[in-house]
Amino acid sequence: MGFMKVLLVEDDASIAGAIVDSLDALGWDIAHETAGLPGLQRLQAEQWDVLLLDLGLPDIDGIEVTRRAREVGTFPIIVISARGDEGDRVLALELGADDYLVKPFGMRELLARIRAVHRRSAQSAESGKDTALAVGPLSVDQRARRAHLGERELELTPKEFEVLAYLAQDPGSAHRRETILQDVWDMNWYGSTKTLDAHVAALRKKLGDARWIESVRGVGFRLQEPR
Ligand code: CA
Repeated sequence: MGFMKVLLVEDDASIAGAIVDSLDALGWDIAHETAGLPGLQRLQAEQWDVLLLDLGLPDIDGIEVTRRAREVGTFPIIVISARGDEGDRVLALELGADDYLVKPFGMRELLARIRAVHRRSAQSAESGKDTALAVGPLSVDQRARRAHLGERELELTPKEFEVLAYLAQDPGSAHRRETILQDVWDMNWYGSTKTLDAHVAALRKKLGDARWIESVRGVGFRLQEPR
């Protein structure tokens, strides 16, 4: 993998120093901010390949930074935090983080995670080219990351969009919960399927008809036009 542009938001000077040195040694472009608000400003001002984000920051919480960063763009976000409890993890991933690394971690581990999220995002950008998926009046444009039902644009969170796009790739087929979780969230994340249920419930509401996403007992979900 070639050159990457990485933004690090981390207030701990020794951790930040180690990360900056490691990425610098690879010849990557690494910028460092020590708080959430300046991090968000930097995020908006330039294009980034990956955001590395601490949660315990001096101004606003990293969870809030994750939420706002997702409004800025679709670049991969890796949370690096000493907070390893499931609540933070689930919340960060639901708000659109792509991976979650609990401190302390090794630099090789971090580099492997950066490469993995970057590869996945490059692949999805590539496979999303010229592919607007259509299921009856529902259209899902993966390149623009927009979904429409008839003329109406659906207001979806990033993860809701990804669940919908995943199901729309093969309408009428039953998709396993585990497979959806793995594909839409992260292969490293073995979270509860309650998260998926919550996203499906939200999607049904936004689609205006629960029959769009049918529950397949013991398996998972199927997307189809209600008849
Ligand atoms: Ca911190």
